[in-house]
Amino acid sequence: MRILVTGGAGFIGSCFVRMALRGKLPGLHDVRLTVLDALTYSGNRANLSPVADDPRLAFVHGDICDADLVDALLPGHDAVVHFAAETHVDRSIDGGAAFVRTNVLGSTVLLEAATRHGLRRFLHVSTDEVYGSIDVGSWKEHFPASPNSPYSASKAGSDLLALAYHRTHELPVVVTRCSNNYGPYQFPEKIIPLFVTNLLEGRTVPLYGDGGNVRDWLHVHDHCRGLALVLAGGRPGQIYHIGGGVETTNNQLADMLLEACGAGRDRLRYVPDRKGHDRRYSLDITKISTELGYRPLVPFRAGILATVEWYRANRPWWEPLRRRMEQEMTLTAH
Ligand code: NAD
Repeated sequence: MRILVTGGAGFIGSCFVRMALRGKLPGLHDVRLTVLDALTYSGNRANLSPVADDPRLAFVHGDICDADLVDALLPGHDAVVHFAAETHVDRSIDGGAAFVRTNVLGSTVLLEAATRHGLRRFLHVSTDEVYGSIDVGSWKEHFPASPNSPYSASKAGSDLLALAYHRTHELPVVVTRCSNNYGPYQFPEKIIPLFVTNLLEGRTVPLYGDGGNVRDWLHVHDHCRGLALVLAGGRPGQIYHIGGGVETTNNQLADMLLEACGAGRDRLRYVPDRKGHDRRYSLDITKISTELGYRPLVPFRAGILATVEWYRANRPWWEPLRRRMEQEMTLTAH
């Protein structure tokens, strides 16, 4: 199977590529992968360096909004696995235009080209954030989208467009909506790598609001296994949830990270809440479990400890990224 992987130099996309080429994804054999990635601030060729010499991998540096490039690239591929996106909620609060461009327009460019070239599969990687926030219970796949941030609204736009291309053009689309991912190679602006790298550098960590926001945590390896199951066996036009089955408050998460890094609560700093901050996310994963046999395999505590160890052992990967982030913040502060 020849797959175009958009955003394959990012956190989750690169994990999918590494696992696929190492034969660690169910149902994915004899794969050849083309990564299409614009290498924005969160894209990083180093994320692919463990498999860079694999002859089954090709890398194309390019933008999913470039219709000519996408049109030229797609023939010969069987499937698209679409990860490429602007992904950080805080950045979307600072400015939404880049999110609409990549997440809505870029996804539409891919859907148009996939329809034109008759692709056999289009897996659109979406998010639980399209539902908004839920106080009690868990979302099922038929619940309506009700996003609250410019990020989640732009993801809802692309997610609904993908489903519309199935209904209108019979493009064999499958959509996955997953919970918060964690694991190695995550850009150090997201809560877990931000906290871990701050703590490893002897700094404090900033927690939004009262720290009571609840998230379902999903190890990136479990997410990629779920994606492979949906790619191989998901029914066209369907949505599948992929979750980790572990809900924690940000306070509980912060305590785990402090302990894993050998730091005390004096290193925790409460900061004013994020605008429009969703209180709780919770996914019901019955559908993917019963239809495709999915279950998360990485226990949360073991996954967190392994992730902290990875950041401890891979300073040359994250230190330059943090310096760049700091420079960017200094520039915007001026
Ligand atoms: P990431 O920010 O680490 O990676 C995004 C990748 O997309 C980067 O490599 C970037 O260079 C690339 N990209 C951005 N704009 C592009 C463009 N115009 N053309 C080509 N490439 C472009 O993000 P991630 O955490 O790996 O997320 C991957 C997908 O999973 C996204 O669609 C995201 O919405 C979704 N998702 C992520 C999470 C999470 O917890 N990380 C949760 C739910 C859903």
